[in-house]
Amino acid sequence: RVLLEVKDLRAVIAESGQEILRGVNLTIYEGEVHAIMGKNGSGKSTLAKVLVGHPDYEVTGGSVIFKGENLLEMEPVERSHAGLFMSFQTPVEIPGFYSYVSPKAAAINMDLRFLDRNVNEGFSGGEKKRNEILQLAGIWVLELGQGYGLWIYAMHFLYTDFTKLHIAVNSSKRNSIAKMVLEADLAILDEIDSGLDVDALQDVAKAVNGLLTPNNSVLMITHYQRLLDFIKPSYVHIMEDGTIVRTGDVSLAKQLEKEGYRAFSNS
Ligand code: ADP
Ligand code: MG
Ligand code: MG
Repeated sequence: RVLLEVKDLRAVIAESGQEILRGVNLTIYEGEVHAIMGKNGSGKSTLAKVLVGHPDYEVTGGSVIFKGENLLEMEPVERSHAGLFMSFQTPVEIPGFYSYVSPKAAAINMDLRFLDRNVNEGFSGGEKKRNEILQLAGIWVLELGQGYGLWIYAMHFLYTDFTKLHIAVNSSKRNSIAKMVLEADLAILDEIDSGLDVDALQDVAKAVNGLLTPNNSVLMITHYQRLLDFIKPSYVHIMEDGTIVRTGDVSLAKQLEKEGYRAFSNS
């Protein structure tokens, strides 16, 4: 069954009108793992943000069907309730995370030692701290066993940016959040590998792999091939200048690493 169908998607920066997405085509079926690679500034994060409805961007053309519905007509919160979830590159503080997650953790006999403060609260947003938190989260993986699903979504929260989507997190709509956290059908992971050492990367990969079922899908955005050694994608796409210029299997990523992005350039 098709989960996501993106056709000729075009989007501009709302403030300036500058076009960033220039006709993106992407189809994701249930159970598939897709990787989007591409050099800095090629539009990978913009695609992710447009899919979740980030207010900085305006869609100017094309269509996005998610689980048979017109995604572009939905509010960001509706998109997340429909089963779309995204991790962001930059962490922010998330007050209320503890009170939300602790009953869940208790229900699956998760060790609560690591939940003794709200996520990111009191931390600086720096790269170093982020890594620390991720590695801390990595410990959860080892202790969660069957609870990988919860863990990986908890990790998403660590990378949350403040958008309309996450107003849900800060409001008291716990039930909605529970659905968003535990029932995401498509998880978009934007550079979850950035700044991780190989041990942390393996933990993250283990969590993502443990999350996968025949019914859900992952769209991984990454600059580097390394992540794909640990999470095997069904398809690899290369993005350049706001469009997907090549699609292949994992060998495309290997080729990319050897030859560089220039070899795949349109221009
Ligand atoms: P990638 O994730 O592939 O590195 P991005 O999607 O973050 O690329 O950015 C693509 C291009 O659009 C870059 O040139 C970036 O500077 C620009 N861009 C993206 N979002 C904004 C924004 N909100 N305001 C201004 N420029 C932006
Ligand atoms: Mg970037
Ligand atoms: Mg990016």
